[in-house]
Amino acid sequence: MKIIRYEANGGAAYGILEDDDSIKQLVGSPFEDFSVGDKVAELADVNVLPPVEPKKIIGVGLNYTKHIEEIGMQKPQFPMLFMKPHSGVIGQGDNIIYPTHGQRIEYECELTVVIGKKTRRVSEADALDYVLGYTCGNDVSERTIQFAEMKMGAMLIGKGFDTFCPLGPVIATGLDPSDLRLQTRLNGETKQDDSTSDLLFSVPKLVSYISEAMTLEPGDCILTGTPSGVAPIKPGDVIEIEIEGVGVLRNPVVAEG
Ligand code: MG
Repeated sequence: MKIIRYEANGGAAYGILEDDDSIKQLVGSPFEDFSVGDKVAELADVNVLPPVEPKKIIGVGLNYTKHIEEIGMQKPQFPMLFMKPHSGVIGQGDNIIYPTHGQRIEYECELTVVIGKKTRRVSEADALDYVLGYTCGNDVSERTIQFAEMKMGAMLIGKGFDTFCPLGPVIATGLDPSDLRLQTRLNGETKQDDSTSDLLFSVPKLVSYISEAMTLEPGDCILTGTPSGVAPIKPGDVIEIEIEGVGVLRNPVVAEG
C-alpha cells in the first residue's frame, strides 16, 4: 500500500495512492488503525506534501561498503549516527535551495524508515513490527562543512541546511527492506544504483540499536545511509531518487535568493 500526504481544505490529509494516479481516502490515522475509503482525488490535481512531519530524523553514515571506500573511511564497528533537523524536510517537487556560500553540495539516495508505533528497547527480531513503511530520502550534504565538522567530531550544519532533507513521494508499506534497489539520477543520468542488501547495518539492527537509547515515535525517520556514486550538484540540476516499491522522489536545485 502507498500512503500519500497532500494538501486538502487548507491543511494536510492522508490518502492511499492507487495505480500511481488516483487517491482514495485514508479513514483513520496511518499511525493507528485505518481503512481505505472512496476515491477523493486524482494525483495530478493535488499538491503532494512530505509524507511525514518527523519529530526526529536520524541519519546513518558509512553504511554501504563501496561508499565507505569512495570517501576513504574505515568501516564502523557500530552504527555511525547523526541527526538532521526537521526544518530541512521538503517533499515531492519542492526546491532544494543551494545556499549562497555553498561550496560542494552532494545528493545521497537513502532508503528511509518511517516509524509507525512508539517503541523503546525493541529487539532486532521485533523491530519491523514498529515500522510503518519506507520512503525515499535524499540526505543532501554540504561536504566542505561536513568534513570540517567531522574533524572536530561533530556533524550538524553540513547536513542541516533548510531543504536538505527531501522525503517522499509516499510511504510504502509491506516491503521487505533487505533487498530493495535504490537509484539516483542527476539530470536523467544514473549516478547511484545499488541494493539495500549491501547495507552494513540492516533496518532491524538500526531500529533496535537506536531504540536502546531513545524512544522512537510515530513519524520518526531513519535515513539508512547512501551507496557509492555521490557527486556534486549545482543550481539548475534535477535529482531523482528511486526506490523499488516506493517510487521516484524528484527535486530541482535552485540558487538561494
Ligand atoms: Mg547519508
